[in-house]
Amino acid sequence: MSWLEGWSGAGITGAAAGRRMSAGRVVVVGSANVDLVVDVPRHPAGGETILGGELRRTPGGKGANQAVAAARAGGADTTFVGALGRDDSAELLLGSLVGADVRTDAVERVDSPTGTALITVSPDGENAIVVAPGANAHVRIGAAQTERIAAADVVLAQLEIPLDTVVAAAGARRDGALFVLNAAPSRELPDEVWDQLDVLVVNEHEAADLAGASAEPESLAAALLARVPAVVITLGARGSLVAERDVLAVRVPAAPVEAVDTTGAGDTYCGVLAAALARGAGLAEAARLAGAAGALAVTRPGAQDAVPRAADVAALAE
Ligand code: ATP
Repeated sequence: MSWLEGWSGAGITGAAAGRRMSAGRVVVVGSANVDLVVDVPRHPAGGETILGGELRRTPGGKGANQAVAAARAGGADTTFVGALGRDDSAELLLGSLVGADVRTDAVERVDSPTGTALITVSPDGENAIVVAPGANAHVRIGAAQTERIAAADVVLAQLEIPLDTVVAAAGARRDGALFVLNAAPSRELPDEVWDQLDVLVVNEHEAADLAGASAEPESLAAALLARVPAVVITLGARGSLVAERDVLAVRVPAAPVEAVDTTGAGDTYCGVLAAALARGAGLAEAARLAGAAGALAVTRPGAQDAVPRAADVAALAE
């Protein structure tokens, strides 16, 4: 029996429905970080030093994670627009991106250290994270990046890079291309961003922040639809909610899986959603594939390392 039995996606037309059905082109504009991860018995208090487990050094950052997901799990022709330093961390990230078949020719090398996330994980799985943005503060849309973006079917961005860059990236897309924003981490959005948005993807906390109130996902989506044509709210193990103006909102259930590490589930979801929209899928169909990819991602440790292959996503989504 399919985990989707009982769910009806009928009647939902996506923002991109009716567009071409070949492998689409996605440009992901965002951050790249090396994640330095240590398991700890508990998170240290201010002024305290504690001993943790072995250090893990893995490729991460919302932008790079989503680019790897769009390419590997979504099957899209994917370009990453970001900035890296001239250090070992940059090589680790480039290796991961190239290994997933992400195009890196629009990645700039800058005189700042590559972004780094310091992550401690307590036994209950709770993360405490400090990010040193480094090179991510220098992501910009120059001539090379503009050329790439102008050829994309979907431009996907997040909020770990300067807002001006997000605005410039959205503005560089061609007519008919979609601008998808994963509004994470939470921050206020200026009108220039709202006005260009085609699809907003947020988790419940981010949705509440943007809507200015806590409420049921359906109410949050309804509030956000006043400002954006389509909203996707991810709900962790409860799946996601897809809402578009003038169309009934639909809940997409999550696949039942054993969660090992939820890091990067949201990024995997966003990358696969963008890839599906780029090849012309409707929003509900894109969310179904993205949900399957997110579910597979939580069954493996790491961020980019946990991104599943497209064939496995398709098999689970069937
Ligand atoms: P994070 O910041 O930890 O990456 P997020 O809050 O942005 O996560 P989530 O809502 O946790 O995003 O996860 C994204 C999607 O992945 C969900 O909408 C769901 O489809 C899938 N997913 C996440 N956790 C699970 C789970 N435990 N079981 C099945 N699917 C899951």
